[in-house]
Amino acid sequence: MSRIIASAAIRGAHKVIQQAEDMLERAITERDEGFTFEFPDTAYYLPMIYGMTGFAVKTLGDMRVALGMAKELLHPEPEEHLWKPYLGEALDSGMATLFAEEVIMALRYINGLEPAVDPETGYIYNGFITDTVQRNLGIQLVDGTMPGFAAVIGAAPDGDTAVRIIRELQEKNILIFLSGHVNGNSVTKQLLRKGIELGWDTRIVPVGPDTEHTIYPLNWSVRASFIFGGRKGGDFKGHLKYTKDRVFAFALVLGELDDLKWSTGAGAINMGYPAVCDTDVPVIHPTGVCTYEEVDKEFDHSKIVQKAIEVRGLKIIVEKPPIPVAYGPAFEGERIRKEDMFIEFGGTRTLSFEWVRMREMEEIEDGKVIIVGNNWQERYEQGGQMPLGIVVDVAGRKMQKDFESVIERKIHSNINEAQGVWHMGQRDINWMRISHNAKKEGFTLEHLGIINAVMTHNRFRAIVDKVQVTIYTDEADVLSLQEEARKVYRERDQRTAGLVDEAVDIFYSCLLCQSFAPTHVCVISPERLGLCGAFNWLDCKAAYEIDPTGGNQPIPKGELIDARYGRYTGIDEYLRKASGGAVETLNLYTIMQNPMTSCGCFECIIAIVPEANGVMIVQRGHTGMTPVGMKFSTLAGSVGGGTQNPGFMGIGRNFIVSKKFLYGDGGIKRIVWMTKNLKESLEEAFGKRAAEEGVPDLLDKVADETICEDSERLLEFLTSVGHPALEMEPLL
Ligand code: SF4
Ligand code: ZN
Repeated sequence: MSRIIASAAIRGAHKVIQQAEDMLERAITERDEGFTFEFPDTAYYLPMIYGMTGFAVKTLGDMRVALGMAKELLHPEPEEHLWKPYLGEALDSGMATLFAEEVIMALRYINGLEPAVDPETGYIYNGFITDTVQRNLGIQLVDGTMPGFAAVIGAAPDGDTAVRIIRELQEKNILIFLSGHVNGNSVTKQLLRKGIELGWDTRIVPVGPDTEHTIYPLNWSVRASFIFGGRKGGDFKGHLKYTKDRVFAFALVLGELDDLKWSTGAGAINMGYPAVCDTDVPVIHPTGVCTYEEVDKEFDHSKIVQKAIEVRGLKIIVEKPPIPVAYGPAFEGERIRKEDMFIEFGGTRTLSFEWVRMREMEEIEDGKVIIVGNNWQERYEQGGQMPLGIVVDVAGRKMQKDFESVIERKIHSNINEAQGVWHMGQRDINWMRISHNAKKEGFTLEHLGIINAVMTHNRFRAIVDKVQVTIYTDEADVLSLQEEARKVYRERDQRTAGLVDEAVDIFYSCLLCQSFAPTHVCVISPERLGLCGAFNWLDCKAAYEIDPTGGNQPIPKGELIDARYGRYTGIDEYLRKASGGAVETLNLYTIMQNPMTSCGCFECIIAIVPEANGVMIVQRGHTGMTPVGMKFSTLAGSVGGGTQNPGFMGIGRNFIVSKKFLYGDGGIKRIVWMTKNLKESLEEAFGKRAAEEGVPDLLDKVADETICEDSERLLEFLTSVGHPALEMEPLL
C-alpha cells in the first residue's frame, strides 16, 4: 500500500475517532453512561464492533470502552512516525475507523438524526440495515441471482452518468448502496433529480449522505457471517475470512477522495472488498489480504462497472430477452401506479389467466409467439383494460406433467423482470400492468409472449426443448380457455394433496445455502418444503432434472426407523456426508430431538414454550416481543448457522399446515401462540387441518400479539379458552 494512502487512512482514522469521542462525551453529559441503545431489528448490538471484538455495546458507557479499543488499533499520526506507515497500520486504522463510524451512527440515532433526511427533497435515507434484510436476501445471494453488492460512494460527474452506472449495476442484479458526497453532491441526489425510484424494491438503497454512513452496508455484510456462517462475536479472523470468501462486495468511489474515504476504504479492504475509483489514485496490488487489486482506477464511466466486476471476480449471468425495455431481477419489485399505467389485464377488472401446458414435440413450434384476437393491435393502442389469456406450451424429451406448475410459477418473474411491466398473482387470479413509459419504448403484447418464450427456455433448458406462447385477447376465447385451465388447476391441486411422504421413495436435499452455512442441508419431502419457502419437493425434482449435479440431490429414503419422529436410514446416511459430519441423524417430524438444522433464511421460527406445553411461531419481519421473551431477531441469532437446536427450528411458512408438522410432538394442536400475520395468511388451510385434528376452532384458541406477548398472560389466555395443548402429554 502506498505510503501516501496509508498516511491519509491513518489521518482519517484519528479525525473520525476524535469526532466520535466528542459526540459521545456530549451525549454522556446530556444523558448518562447507563443510557441504553440498540439499532433497529438486530441481534448483534453494534455489529462491526461485536463481530471483531465480541464486546456487546449496550450503553453509552460501553461505547466509550469500544472507542478505547478503536484507539488501541491506532498507530501514531504519520508525522510522528517518521513516514513509515505500512499496510498493517493502515488496515488497523481502517477497522478503527469503522468502529468510530458505528459509534457515530448509534449516537446519531440517539439524537434523532437517523435515518438522515435530505434537506432539499425531504427524501428519507434507509439508515441502519436490519437483520431481516439479510435473511430476506439470503436466498438470492446463495442461488446466484444476486451476484453481489456495490457500495457507491460520492457523486458522478453528472446526472446522466450516475443513471447509466446505476442502471448497469441493476441490470446485472447487483444490490446497490449509496453513501457519501463530493462537495454536497451525491449519486443519491443525482438520481432523485432524475426521478429514479429508490429503495429496496429497485435495489438502490441510499443509506445516508456522508462517508460515515458507509458503515451501514459494511456492518450489514458482517452479519452474513454471523447469520449464515455461524461465526461468533470476537472471531475477527473468522469474520474477515468469511466476508472475503463469501460476500461479493466492492466499492465504486466516484469523485475525489479525502482522508475519511481512504480510512473507510482501508476498513473495507480489511473485509476483502476492493474499491474502483474514477480518479487518479495509485493502484494497490494484492498484498496478502486479497488476491486481487485492492484499489484500482477506471476513468471511463462506461467501463467502471465492468472493471469492478472483474476486480472482485463476480459471476454475472444475465439472460435478457429481446425486448425494448431493460430486463433483470432488479426490476421485479418495481410498482406501476394507476397514473403511470398504460394498460392492465386481470386483477378482477378483466378476464385473465396464465397456463403452462405440456405438449408433444411435433405439436408446437419453438420460439413462436401467436396473438389471437380481432384487431388486437388497435385495442392495445387505446390502452385502458383488456382481457388476456397467456398459454405457454412446452415440449421436451425430459418434460413431465408435474413440471407444468413449476414452470408456470416462473411466469411471475418472467414478466415482472421487464422494466415498466408489472405482474401479480398466478393462474386465473393474475394481474398485469404495462406502464406509459414501457409503451413509449415500444413494448407490445408480442413482447409479453417473447419474454415467456425466451425465459422459459433459459430457465428450464434441460427439460424444455420447445416453447410456444399464445396470447388470447378476445373475451370469448379467454373465457373458454380459462374454464379448461381451471380444470387442470383443480387436477393439479388434487394430485399435490395426495402427494404424501409415504407415497414416494425419494426425498430431495437442498444444498444451496451451503455457500453461506456450510453444514446446513434442507431435507425436502412432499409434505415439508425448504425452510426459506422457495423450494418444495416438486421444485427440487425439476431442479434435479435440469441440473443433475446442482444444489438439489435425490435422497433415497431408505428404511423407516421411526414413523412417529420421521427418521429414515437413507436420510441419515446422506446427511452425514452432505453436512461434512456435522449432522449424524435427523428427525423430520419433531422439534425435540435432532430436528432439522437451520441456515439463516427461514421464513418462520418455531420455539417451544415449556410453561404452555406447546410451541410458538413467529415470522421474519415481525419486530415485536414473543412469549419466550425474545424477539425474532434474537431468536434467529441462536437458531441459524447450520446447527441442530432442539426446541428451536427455522421452517417455511406452509409447513405449519402440513400433516407432518411436528407430527411426532402432537402436531398442529401444539401451537399456542402465532403472530396475527401468520394466522391471517394461513387461516383457510389452518382451519381445515384443525378440523381434521378434531378441533375446528383451534385458531381462535391460539394467542397472538394482540392478546399477549409474555408467557404469564399467555397461560391465562390458554386456560380461559381451554387450549388442547394444556391437556396433551408433556413436551419435556
Ligand atoms: Fe437454503 Fe433450504 Fe431454501 Fe435451499 S431450501 S435455498 S437450503 S433454505
Ligand atoms: Zn438458507
